[in-house]
Amino acid sequence: MLKKILIANRGEIAVRVVRACREMGIKTVAVYSAADRVALHVRMADEAYFIGPAPSTESYLNIERIIDVARKSGADAIHPGYGFLAENPEFASAVQQAGLIFIGPAPEAIRLFGDKMAARERMLASGVPVVPGMEQNLTSDEAARKIADEIGFPVLIKAAAGGGGKGMRIVHSPDEMAEAMKTARAEAKSAFGDDRIYLEKYIARPRHIEVQILADHHGNVMHLGERECSIQRRHQKVIEESPSPIVDSVMRERMGAVAIKAAKAGGYTNAGTVEFLYDQDGRFYFLEVNTRLQVEHPVTELITGVDLVKAQIKIAAGESIQFQTDISRRGAAIECRIYAEDPENNFFPSIGKVQTYREPGGPGVRVDSGMYEGGEVSIYYDPLIAKLLTWGPTRIEAINRMRRALAEYRISGVKTTIPFHIAIMGNERFIKGDLSTHFIAEEYPNGRLNFVEDESLMQALAIFSCVIDYQENRKIQPATISKKSNLNRWKMQSRW
Ligand code: ADP
Repeated sequence: MLKKILIANRGEIAVRVVRACREMGIKTVAVYSAADRVALHVRMADEAYFIGPAPSTESYLNIERIIDVARKSGADAIHPGYGFLAENPEFASAVQQAGLIFIGPAPEAIRLFGDKMAARERMLASGVPVVPGMEQNLTSDEAARKIADEIGFPVLIKAAAGGGGKGMRIVHSPDEMAEAMKTARAEAKSAFGDDRIYLEKYIARPRHIEVQILADHHGNVMHLGERECSIQRRHQKVIEESPSPIVDSVMRERMGAVAIKAAKAGGYTNAGTVEFLYDQDGRFYFLEVNTRLQVEHPVTELITGVDLVKAQIKIAAGESIQFQTDISRRGAAIECRIYAEDPENNFFPSIGKVQTYREPGGPGVRVDSGMYEGGEVSIYYDPLIAKLLTWGPTRIEAINRMRRALAEYRISGVKTTIPFHIAIMGNERFIKGDLSTHFIAEEYPNGRLNFVEDESLMQALAIFSCVIDYQENRKIQPATISKKSNLNRWKMQSRW
């Protein structure tokens, strides 16, 4: 078994890994940049080492420095978290060459799935359904137009090295092709240093449904069911849940079997996610494999009871996943990503000191966060403050709990996406489970919040605004409190 793990990450995911290690009796080594000297992950780990200035290129992306710290601290393995170096095959190789264990898949699998064109090709050859399209690098717009004609407009131009929704362009007609190719290629070049682009059918109003898998070094691969991640902004997930409201047990096994086939075809090991697009006719297509722990992994943990980080560590140490034979699924779980962003101002990042910070609690609530009162949201990193999750025996109970938990959450000093989540939790279409990746664009055009006239929702918002206003010692704006609400400042004062 592993004795000491270095965590090459920061924020909530570093804290998450420390927690798993502590429960397993494994020592932890944190690394930190100049911006993170007093960060929570630094305080929680057994040891912490400074690795460089705030910009991630000089700290959390500095492979040599991180491996050097791992060696000096006597760690026997490195957990990369997500983001930063998590999907960098050179890092995984360097870790192995240093005689350490990389807690993730082999560099070859990371490389294969990191190249979307190569992954499509491998999947096609293995009989995994992929979105109709082509696997070659697009060089001329003439060739691209010809393929697009064959598969039918609209089509999507994507970057082979894509990630984070970058380098994608929708093309509705042949005359848009040349311009779209040019901009997609330029964006791919600047974001990934790789300007290869390809083309696939643009699926109309799909749902994003992904399957969590675990694969050990003994040839065993299992799936842990799906997560629906259709609530997205600019192709980035905002809310995730499991089970998907549209997936029944038959579909779950079908998708699970395809995910296992995809993992086996790519020689995958450790925890991973196979992403699918699910179209309006109930067909699903392979989109990509994320070769790491996903941000939204706790959704699966809440309904299966499996600790995915512990599973990752055990697999990396050579254990068989037969330790996970008793998987059962119970109830429903939802995750809201709480960002320091202003939903009233087109989700502009809200940087600065978090003055008030109190997390919600009570039955069925989980908060994964790296924040604390007095902590900073830094301009250098992703402004994710926390992942708020709720579990309920049914989806509607999980939603009601989420509304309650969102209203309990107290954050001041920075703007957050909490009001946006409250709006979605009260949205009729969301409640019905009528989802697609266009949900936010359709329901909140121009990024504006149009709250439904729902008394309990308004009350939740009123509580939230009241607390914030009270904390900041400002006068309460009448507009933020529902007329029907009987909450006043004095009641709030004694209550909180
Ligand atoms: P990235 O790796 O940049 O996140 P993905 O391939 O995972 O890119 O796609 C991200 C999101 O973009 C998907 O969840 C979906 O909303 C949208 N998308 C990607 N490919 C298609 C497609 N062919 N048709 C429709 N939407 C797509």
